[in-house]
Amino acid sequence: GFAASAVTERSFIMVKPDGVHRGLVGDIIKRFEQRGYKLVGCKVLVPSRELAAKHYAEHDGKPFFPKLVDFLTSGAVVALVFEGKDVVKTGRTMIGATNPLASPPGTIRADFGIDMGRNIIHGSDSVESAMREIALWFRADELADYTPVATAWIY
Ligand code: ADP
Ligand code: MG
Repeated sequence: GFAASAVTERSFIMVKPDGVHRGLVGDIIKRFEQRGYKLVGCKVLVPSRELAAKHYAEHDGKPFFPKLVDFLTSGAVVALVFEGKDVVKTGRTMIGATNPLASPPGTIRADFGIDMGRNIIHGSDSVESAMREIALWFRADELADYTPVATAWIY
């Protein structure tokens, strides 16, 4: 039989406005699903400047910060929460480097882009960041609590 999974690590993944505009939402979700990660949160919204600035608070004061906030608020994003074994670190590996040109082929940023300011996707950089970002973008009752039998065997 299947042992109950004790895995509770979660990452905040976001398709940025360029990814939504280019129709890449399905492909991005598919990559995480196929890897074995469980989708527990999903919504589409146009972020406010306040939300965008809070999300990127660590970059406040850097030269690219105003344009980063302009960009993130320029259209719809898809906010996602994926759950599973080592999802924060593995998610970052799947996403690739900040600069798509420095990302190896097969990563999301390399496969879909060439511009650091239009790099398609965000992923939490640590478990602590993930908890902060998930709490910022989602209410607790927007995250689903369920056990998908189909992924139990992947673990
Ligand atoms: P990551 O998204 O890989 O965690 P950072 O947290 O360093 O990267 O930066 C957040 C976002 O800000 C990046 O994804 C990118 O869109 C943008 N960014 C970072 N550095 C620069 C830069 N030097 N010039 C323009 N945009 C940048
Ligand atoms: Mg970052």
